[in-house]
Amino acid sequence: MSGPVINVYGAGLAGCEAARAASSMGVRVRLTEMKPGKYTPAHKSPGFAELVCSNSLRSDSVTNAVGLLKEEMRRLGSLVMAAADATRVPAGSALAVDRVAFSDYITRAVLSDPLIEIVREEAVSVPEDGITVIATGPLTSQALADFIAGELGCPGLHFFDAAAPVVDGSTVDTGIAFYASRYGKGDADYLNCPMTKEEYDAFYDALVGAREAELHGFDREAQKDPEVFEGCMPVEIMARRGRDTLRFGPLKPVGLSDPRRPGREYYAVVQLRKENEAGTMFNLVGFQTHLTFPEQQRVFRMIPGLGSAEFLRYGVMHRNTYLDSPGRLGPDYMLSSRPGVYFAGQITGVEGYVESAGSGLVAGINAARRALGLPRAVFPEQTMLGAMAAYVSRGGLGPFVPMNANFGLIAPLEQRVRGGKAAKYAAYAERSLAAVEQTRETLFPRGKETCNESNS
Ligand SMILES: Cc1cc2nc3c(=O)[nH]c(=O)nc-3n(C[C@H](O)[C@H](O)[C@H](O)COP(=O)(O)OP(=O)(O)OC[C@H]3O[C@@H](n4cnc5c(N)ncnc54)[C@H](O)[C@@H]3O)c2cc1C
Repeated sequence: MSGPVINVYGAGLAGCEAARAASSMGVRVRLTEMKPGKYTPAHKSPGFAELVCSNSLRSDSVTNAVGLLKEEMRRLGSLVMAAADATRVPAGSALAVDRVAFSDYITRAVLSDPLIEIVREEAVSVPEDGITVIATGPLTSQALADFIAGELGCPGLHFFDAAAPVVDGSTVDTGIAFYASRYGKGDADYLNCPMTKEEYDAFYDALVGAREAELHGFDREAQKDPEVFEGCMPVEIMARRGRDTLRFGPLKPVGLSDPRRPGREYYAVVQLRKENEAGTMFNLVGFQTHLTFPEQQRVFRMIPGLGSAEFLRYGVMHRNTYLDSPGRLGPDYMLSSRPGVYFAGQITGVEGYVESAGSGLVAGINAARRALGLPRAVFPEQTMLGAMAAYVSRGGLGPFVPMNANFGLIAPLEQRVRGGKAAKYAAYAERSLAAVEQTRETLFPRGKETCNESNS
């Protein structure tokens, strides 16, 4: 068989999606997977696209960001979505799958694809020439991680993710929270949530008593590293050092006053920092945490101003290999310093099963287009696929943190819609799906090359 070949490293969610996207465009793929010769600490089965933890792919409603992402992927012929739809199990409004059947479906599709050759070995370097998609995931093997950080010129590769929760800016009660910077220095970019002593005490007691998420053995090991631990101590652990420790740390109230209530002093203040120019996303400063997601919602909503806050992402602390992508990867997921080298999946800084597969779809389409001599395809930021790629390539205002799909990333609506949040999300969905249809028409004018056709 002749024609261009692209290398894809890692037969996980992103790698399988990328490989199949490329093969469905007529491009040959060499897919390298180190299992079963070598396993990451989380992978256990020799099959491809292994779901290492939950079997849920989260909401299936298009008025939810990850639900919308799924629908966009379906319309572009995603293999992962075809597998999920074929192997779903009852889970209310969520899309959950039988994990064995899901992996079997994808493994069979990839193995039976005449354009995909499988190589069962650990990838440790990237060829000088040609096209390679690196989709080796959050637990990329050390040898390849060293190569990426060294010879591939991506210093600042992160091995641990300690992220604070991010809330939707429009759900913060600005009748309570106020814009100000400490001592009035610089622009008033922070939203400050003031606390009285009674509010602080109630919050403190809830925080120190809240339930923490279970740790994987390898996460526990990573956190024994004092640099990791002291550098990003979970807020609940810091709180346990003493009732007032937070008030002298991230909740320090000094130098912060509400311009609407001059002279008023507060017992403690939680600061929210803008995550993006548009101010749709705000980060709880210093709130990296191990708490379970429901506990984060319960406890952090006790902070004045956050009573109805919507969490766009929860705080996490786990081992996670990811690039410092902004400025390094383009919105097509290609490394600017090494044309022809693409990244896909969690290693790019997207977070979650569906998000990883979604970035694999975009990277795979782009790698194939490059192999075919076609210009790159940048997805519109009105779509979740495009919004995630834009976030990865540009980042936000603060340090780059991995992010799951959320409506804080998507381009704001051109016009205000009446009807509250539900109407706003429905408008995002309608606009995005129209944009995806248009993109599909442009990329696959005859409608032949999408994976849907070849899956049927
Ligand atoms: C422990 C854990 C639990 C998680 N739980 C969830 C969850 O419940 N829900 C959720 O949405 N997300 C979860 N995630 C986050 C993330 O969405 C998943 O890890 C997802 O599988 C990432 O997809 P990926 O394709 O980027 O990587 P993976 O699916 O991990 O695929 C990477 C593949 O590359 C292979 N590989 C690694 N190094 C090499 C190499 N050098 N050469 C060849 N092959 C290599 C691996 O064996 C693996 O098959 C979890 C992550 C971890 C680590």
